[in-house]
Amino acid sequence: MTERIAIVTGAARGIGAATARRLAADGMAVAVLDLDEEDCKGTVDEIAGAGGRALAVGADVSNTGQVAAAVDRVAAELGEPTVLVNNAGVIRDNLLFKMSDNDWDTVLNVHLRGAFLMTRATQKYMVDQHYGRIVNLSSSSALGNRGQVNYSAAKSGMQGFTKTLAIELGKFGITANSVAPGFIVTDMTASTAARVGMDFEDFQKAAASQIPVQRVGQPGDVANAISFFASEAAGFVSGQVLYVAGGPLC
Ligand code: NAP
Repeated sequence: MTERIAIVTGAARGIGAATARRLAADGMAVAVLDLDEEDCKGTVDEIAGAGGRALAVGADVSNTGQVAAAVDRVAAELGEPTVLVNNAGVIRDNLLFKMSDNDWDTVLNVHLRGAFLMTRATQKYMVDQHYGRIVNLSSSSALGNRGQVNYSAAKSGMQGFTKTLAIELGKFGITANSVAPGFIVTDMTASTAARVGMDFEDFQKAAASQIPVQRVGQPGDVANAISFFASEAAGFVSGQVLYVAGGPLC
């Protein structure tokens, strides 16, 4: 088996960290990329402790120069990347009439511009090897969510971005798919609970009561779905959006 090299963005914590650990367990060498290289070391140490190979990389995915340098560094120090998980994300929730230009730009820049820059910088290695797996994180909020006009636009955009990548890159042996989580227990949902003034445990219970499987999701639930799309076995699955939300969404 060829050892694939994967890059997971926003992998210092939450869904990204769980995904990095999962892809390493699947046999990949993993670049753990996040804003601060120091913050990536926990995930890298966990992977190394389990016998895997990982590299901590600090970069802002919305910055063209930092992205180019980060991807080149991965290629030089870990190997040429053919698996990319665009997971880095932020929220800046507010109702439309109160949303600032900066809150709109920050969210669109990290999710959409970040995924664009990372994918453009990485695709050349995939094309060279005639093999690639791209997984983009969308969200159930792509279907619309009060207070998230910026985030839902970005996460809906991730789905169109994914489908176009699938069309353009398919002839190079590259697939692109999107995973759209529902409520997952991470710092992101904890910060939402804090913003609306709810205890995080109560917030989770309220969310779980609305979900058909009657529980909230864990980062590992999302990593399991990403693992499939990132695998060799998923070569005939491209341009899809998979909701990982404990119930039907479309
Ligand atoms: P999280 O715990 O907040 O982790 C996000 C990570 O992305 C953080 O480590 C953050 O770094 C990093 N990041 C932010 N801006 C970045 C940038 N410009 N460049 C590089 N890294 C950056 O979030 P999560 O809940 O795991 O979410 C992961 C992804 O899943 C996001 O795309 C999110 O939108 C999506 N998602 C989450 C949920 C959910 O319920 N949690 C549901 C649907 C979709 P810092 O800590 O330094 O800011």
